[in-house]
Amino acid sequence: MESYRHKGLRKALVKILKEKGIKNKKVLDAINTVPRHLFLDKAFEEWAYKDQAFPIRANQTISQPYTVAFQTELIDPQPEDKILEIGTGSGYQACVLSLLCKKIYSIERQIELFKQTNERLKKIGFGKIRTLHGDGYKGAPRFAPFDKILVTAGATDIPETLVEQLKIGGFLVIPVGKGDDKKMLKITRIDEDTIKKESFGIFRFVPFKKGIVK
Ligand code: SAH
Repeated sequence: MESYRHKGLRKALVKILKEKGIKNKKVLDAINTVPRHLFLDKAFEEWAYKDQAFPIRANQTISQPYTVAFQTELIDPQPEDKILEIGTGSGYQACVLSLLCKKIYSIERQIELFKQTNERLKKIGFGKIRTLHGDGYKGAPRFAPFDKILVTAGATDIPETLVEQLKIGGFLVIPVGKGDDKKMLKITRIDEDTIKKESFGIFRFVPFKKGIVK
């Protein structure tokens, strides 16, 4: 399942990410550890270590490694953090985060992806990830509050419900915009009713959609 070749390809990917400006050593180490080739169908393994997004089931994509690294760097995971990810997709981003925090919850709206990814995570053995099938717009109130929330699909607005599920001092990383180009926003919950908004460049994502697909 894992060969020297995969290890070599992963090292080369990490080098590219460094050149593109990713600095956090913990993030780079996590990317150097997670076997991304196990998150694509066998026929596409060759593509796993290119810095490109790639189609997965249900018309969705596994995010580009640079985007995963960038979002993980912004989330700045700490060993005691409880983090919610929205948009499980292939499960790759959740695995990267799981190496760097205490507990991770991840929600997917498409049942087909939810099932496939659950199986995959069981096989690979990433135990810290609790996957949920549901509408990420509603967050995961049963498990709130979270230190941090990461949205890996492109939104048109900042969902109030998600801000409310953050601890005070916690933050949300979410790509937001009206068109295809989304601004990477970091929304910090300063107190009960004040937020701070910071912007970190433009990215493209598959859309953050309301409701679930059974
Ligand atoms: N983090 C993923 C990226 C997947 S792409 C990875 O590492 O592979 C974004 C995912 O968000 C898609 O699988 C899409 O189905 C999901 N998604 C979109 N809107 C959602 C919502 N409201 N709730 C939960 N998941 C959602």
